[in-house]
Amino acid sequence: MLSFEELGLSEETLKVLKKKGFEVPSPIQEVTIPAILNGNKDIVAQAQTGTGKTAAFGLPLVERLDEHSRSVQALVLTPTRELAIQVAEEIHSLKGKKKLTITPIYGGQSITLQLRSLKKGVDIVIGTPGRVLDHIARGTLKLGEISYLVLDEADEMLNMGFLEDVKKIMRHTPANKRTMLFSATMPKEIIQIAREHMTEFDEFKVSKDQLTVSQTDQIYFEVSASNKFEALCRIIDIEEDFFGLVFCRTKKDVDTIANHLVERGYDADALHGDLSQPQREKILNKFKKHLINILVATDVAARGIDVQDLTHVINFALPQDAESYVHRIGRTGRAGKEGNAITFITPEEYRKLRYISRETKTDIRKATLPDVKDVIKTKKIRIRNILKDIVEASPRSEYMEMSRELLDTNSPEDVVAALLEYSFQDELDEKNYTEIGNALVDTKGKTRLFVTQGKKDGLTSQKLMHFIQNKCGVKSKKIRDVQILEKFSFVTLPFHDAELVLSYFKGKQKGKGPFITKANKARENG
Ligand code: ADP
Ligand code: MG
Repeated sequence: MLSFEELGLSEETLKVLKKKGFEVPSPIQEVTIPAILNGNKDIVAQAQTGTGKTAAFGLPLVERLDEHSRSVQALVLTPTRELAIQVAEEIHSLKGKKKLTITPIYGGQSITLQLRSLKKGVDIVIGTPGRVLDHIARGTLKLGEISYLVLDEADEMLNMGFLEDVKKIMRHTPANKRTMLFSATMPKEIIQIAREHMTEFDEFKVSKDQLTVSQTDQIYFEVSASNKFEALCRIIDIEEDFFGLVFCRTKKDVDTIANHLVERGYDADALHGDLSQPQREKILNKFKKHLINILVATDVAARGIDVQDLTHVINFALPQDAESYVHRIGRTGRAGKEGNAITFITPEEYRKLRYISRETKTDIRKATLPDVKDVIKTKKIRIRNILKDIVEASPRSEYMEMSRELLDTNSPEDVVAALLEYSFQDELDEKNYTEIGNALVDTKGKTRLFVTQGKKDGLTSQKLMHFIQNKCGVKSKKIRDVQILEKFSFVTLPFHDAELVLSYFKGKQKGKGPFITKANKARENG
């Protein structure tokens, strides 16, 4: 793996990267940055979404453009206005002290505003094809002198039917410019453009397998349906800076979970297909700005969300199939950061998880839920950090004054404790966490099962063990705590064996023999 220093970037840019927190170049950056900086060929680059393609062309552009140019030097075409804005912001954040003007132009924004900034002179224009053509037609955007043309997210531009517009725009650009095409996938129409419009080009491809999945720690928790919500809260609380997507199967579940979270004081919101486009955008924007840090969504609603830097993707419910699993978890662990993919499964779902793990050729590790004591420990650390930050930034003077007054008549311990209580109330109270305990039969790896027959049906321990062994293939030595009561019975099995038994009975009608389901507490007690 190369470092940014080795890619030939200037001192100023290295400083910017350090400040931005980029530690090492992503694989696509590693290959395109030196090629653009040192060579002169056109570029075709393919790498998955979220792998830092913007900086892959943005950094060398910033390095190579001239601060004293009087005409537009580079044009970046993007499929949507959101992307135009995003790319403009990213390049802006990379330019450091270099005097370059970067302007996004896109449909929907007032054209006069855009005219004004174009008139003042712009070095890099980032725009959607339609609006760029408008400006060309009005004579307000002149591309005759550009040195670089970037087609960003080329496959999306193709999907959105911009191919002809892009070709039209290309006709207004000089022959000696360098063209750079960046895309997540390379459909043949795009290769075609490259062949027709580029003379000699370097091709870079970062294969899919190298990415995302290996960057993502995948674990699962065995948890009964009724304990899923509690488990979710613990996972969020144990994290110092949770920023994640929670996937549910239905719109109803999405709403229920999001509402519960909000009731418990979390900054959460719901995203599903029933929302109007403006509502959807509003929620997404809040999420992107980290005003909310938990977004509960269905698969469909989450499609096309381009939020970066998620710390977690949580499968509150298992996805439909292996492909959706990959889609869901592909959203975390981006651009060199380790992400966490967490899946909740009930005993009945174990087999499906195994299938997904096989299909995706990934290892999904079993883990145990964080303990309440540890969750509270993390919360304390978080509170300490918040306070430390405020102290370091010096608290407001009106509070300093009040602080002195309070300390005149009270002890420091009392005052600080009172303020903590005032601010955090019962947040550190263990009682806030429902005991996942008894149902922990599941999480500790065992499941209690309920059998519909008892003594009065002639059932004995021996008979029940035989029955389970013969029908479901579970060895009798794994069977524990057999309890034969008058009308029904109980047995305890290791989680996976219980799953076998439950799936044997799933969908079957109750017949003459014993019928087995999961035990619930109420039944066991009475
Ligand atoms: P793509 O265009 O490939 O989908 P982006 O360019 O939008 O990806 O980058 C995804 C995110 O990764 C952005 O938030 C960006 O700032 C960040 N990023 C890019 N390169 C790096 C890097 N080398 N280290 C850390 N983060 C990076
Ligand atoms: Mg991109």
